[in-house]
Amino acid sequence: MEIETILIHSCENNPLGAVGTPIFATSTFADAARHGYSYTRTSNPTREALEKTVAAAEGGRYGFAFSSGLAAEDALFACFDKIICANDTYGGTKRLLKTCYSASFCDVSDENALSSALTGTYGALVFAETPANPLMRVTDIGKTAAIAHAHNAYLAIDNTFLTPALQRPLSLGADAVVHSATKYLGGHHDSVAGCVATSGESLAEKLKNIINTKGNGLSPFESFLIKRGMETLALRMKKHCENAEEVFRYLKTRRDIKKIYYAGDPENEGYAVNSSQSSGAGGVISFEIDEEKVPEFIRSLKLIKFAESLGGNASLITHPFTQTHASLSGDEKAACGITKGLLRLSCGTESAVDIINDLERSANC
Ligand SMILES: *Cc1c(COP(=O)(O)O)cnc(C)c1O
Repeated sequence: MEIETILIHSCENNPLGAVGTPIFATSTFADAARHGYSYTRTSNPTREALEKTVAAAEGGRYGFAFSSGLAAEDALFACFDKIICANDTYGGTKRLLKTCYSASFCDVSDENALSSALTGTYGALVFAETPANPLMRVTDIGKTAAIAHAHNAYLAIDNTFLTPALQRPLSLGADAVVHSATKYLGGHHDSVAGCVATSGESLAEKLKNIINTKGNGLSPFESFLIKRGMETLALRMKKHCENAEEVFRYLKTRRDIKKIYYAGDPENEGYAVNSSQSSGAGGVISFEIDEEKVPEFIRSLKLIKFAESLGGNASLITHPFTQTHASLSGDEKAACGITKGLLRLSCGTESAVDIINDLERSANC
């Protein structure tokens, strides 16, 4: 089946033939021996409906749903003794790794850097985002997986930015996929959630045990929201991509925009790799303006909200320096190219004309 169909039909054994996903708002279950459910921390049919959908969408055998994207990453990281993380990732991922784990950081796209970070390790996890937050740097998933596997390591990809509608890392060689389902999977700015998909049986056993032990699984109601959001994921991603393409063409005409970072830009360093491993560039574009113009630029916008997050129907703009990547030190920000003049725009599913008209208000700042 194609992804559009999988997203709608991958979990259909609902009681009474319910076509929508029932919300099992219950903490506990009687007669556990008869149907296999005992307590919602351990498992819940609504969460399982989402987990099956995530697994099917990513082409994996197992899916897991957590209370946030970071909770999903935390569960995954807890399964490994050694973690090697890409330099470019969501700021919260770095904070999690630095606070709670012994992790090292390197440019995972640099074959020598990754090989030397892996030398002497066994069973390590390599973790990368592609395209990465917020400069849209692209990592070659197949190549990175091959290097990881040659060192008896595993590769996990944060697929939040492109989603399985555009990119399926497991089919390219990755061992696990992570999502902030808060973003495109949910898609409506109404819930915080995270997911992991994998085909690895022993990794799946560990994750299942972690959900039961730590109690970080997603609630039935939130599971329902993300599952419902995913039914329209392929449709929405198409519109996000089209809008970003048009916004990119508009931004290129603006003299006050000094640099544009967009995976769909043929001049982007990672364009060829991204085109070879995905069917789109997603809806996020970062760009740089004069840093003193940032406050006025943001104030001039009426439709596009100045708010953290991305991937929902409403267009959002963020200032990574003070928001998503605020937890990084000055040196780290400089190393990742996160300047005070950098803005990240998540193109929603509104009309591209209205998004561009809104951006045009800032042209005379
Ligand atoms: C938002 C985000 C996260 C963290 O997810 P939460 O749901 O906010 O915990 C992780 N990775 C990426 C790429 C993100 O954009």
